[in-house]
Amino acid sequence: MTIQKILTVPNPVLKQVSRPVKTMDDQMRKLMDDMLETMYDAPGIGLAAIQVGIPLRVIVMDLAGPDEEPAPMYFADPEILEDVEEMRLWEEGCLSVPDFYEEVERPERIKLKYMDYHGKEVIQWVDGLFATCIQHEMDHLNGVLFIDHLSRLKRQRAVRKVQKAERDRAIEAAE
Ligand code: ZN
Repeated sequence: MTIQKILTVPNPVLKQVSRPVKTMDDQMRKLMDDMLETMYDAPGIGLAAIQVGIPLRVIVMDLAGPDEEPAPMYFADPEILEDVEEMRLWEEGCLSVPDFYEEVERPERIKLKYMDYHGKEVIQWVDGLFATCIQHEMDHLNGVLFIDHLSRLKRQRAVRKVQKAERDRAIEAAE
């Protein structure tokens, strides 16, 4: 498996709309395996293919706690069929916006449809962290980042923070 480079803001690739996978095959499973390794290495709890520069509607997640067994989840072409009016406020972060966290409000429960690792169609209601995380990842498939849900000021602050951290790292590497 290969660890891929995770793109960070303001890379314009992150604004692309990803295209449907339609059929699950070994090539797609290889992509999902690599994405999972990349996510664990980061470490993070969710990753969309566009974050490694591949514009396909593919997501991997693992919401297991630090003392629990890994519980990888794979989603291709996910869709929200229904949601509820109740909202859940949660402090989100993103591997493409490292070291920046802000609260975002999203529907508390959603009815989700997707294709799993084996190409089987799954329809299920999800809630809590699962619902928050998959909605965050599905935003990526449409070129939307969690900071796009914040005020313009907060969004600019987040991008500047990431750019500054990258500049500092580059200077350190050069020294
Ligand atoms: Zn993200």
